[in-house]
Amino acid sequence: MALEYNAINLSQGFPDFPIDEKLIELVNQAMRDGHNQYAPMPGHPLLKKKISELIFKTYQREVNPDTEIVITAGATQAIFSTIAAVVQAGDEVIMFDPSYDCYDPAVILNGGTPVHINLIPPDFSIPWGEVRKKINKKTKAIIVNSPHNPCGTVLSDADMKKLTVLVNEFDLLLISDEVYERIIFDGKEHQSALKYPDLKDRTIAIYSFGKTFHATGWKIGYTVASPKLTDEIRKAHQFITFAVNTPMQVAMAEYLSDPSTILLLGKFYQAKRDFFLEQVKGCSFKPLPCSGSYFQLMSFEGTSLESDWNMAERLTKDLKVASIPVSVFYKDQSDFKLLRFCFAKKDETLMKAGEILRRV
Ligand code: PMP
Repeated sequence: MALEYNAINLSQGFPDFPIDEKLIELVNQAMRDGHNQYAPMPGHPLLKKKISELIFKTYQREVNPDTEIVITAGATQAIFSTIAAVVQAGDEVIMFDPSYDCYDPAVILNGGTPVHINLIPPDFSIPWGEVRKKINKKTKAIIVNSPHNPCGTVLSDADMKKLTVLVNEFDLLLISDEVYERIIFDGKEHQSALKYPDLKDRTIAIYSFGKTFHATGWKIGYTVASPKLTDEIRKAHQFITFAVNTPMQVAMAEYLSDPSTILLLGKFYQAKRDFFLEQVKGCSFKPLPCSGSYFQLMSFEGTSLESDWNMAERLTKDLKVASIPVSVFYKDQSDFKLLRFCFAKKDETLMKAGEILRRV
């Protein structure tokens, strides 16, 4: 619709600014250097090594690049391969809505049953008591996502501890979608599942270079898990993708030699969030707190009785700013009168959108 109505597109989550020229040069160089044939199935050794170094630097967790990492075609394939590897017919998988849209169908396609638990605004905190009640003999795994798309919330250390108790008590797996690990604000720390020794043998942590390098179209991500789980994921990965494109893996490995840009990503996006919030000051939509990811939720409760779906359509058609109605991320389509705006955009784009939204 954004294209059809020539609207400013703050709906889908992708940056509209260029990626680092150096990364483009490194890909070209890798192609010229002849890195144009199949990469090893689990991923290019150099990239896996660089990832494991970065994980150690960030989370002080030692990850064996040979046995604990799989390079995938984006986080989407990492999630699919993980679910294909661990979910059997009849298994239940707990997930929290609003949720990223690939979890539920991946579980269904693999014969499992998704069990959705709603998170309620404005804080979207996980109702741990309800989670405990939903766990039964069929429960195989819990999927969490922090920093969260679309809510912009982050899991606390207390959340992670509660999660640790549950997965250990009931012998569950944890699929931890951490694609926005570096996009976290206001001095908060990302509580990666990789930091918790008691989660080590139960966790598959999932990442995406699309988010970290502003290159969503490159579709490269990875999983981090124990050797036993990684073995299983590789069995699925082998026949879903086999291997991810080689020159980009080589270039990313080289690029990771200097992780300074990555380490500053939180600051970069915090400035974008603040800039966007400044631009929309005066709009009758109310921003919700955003501690991470590149999404800002805005509430129109009290402004209009129409559905979030209608509101998003009307904004796109009439005012020419596209957003996403949050009800689409709820299995039961709960409508809390919220719209999701992506602020991974040039200041110029955010300014134009702000000008329009201030008139709402
Ligand atoms: N998980 C979440 C929470 C996401 O927001 C996205 C991308 N929007 C993905 C996974 C998929 O990442 P990729 O583009 O690397 O497949």
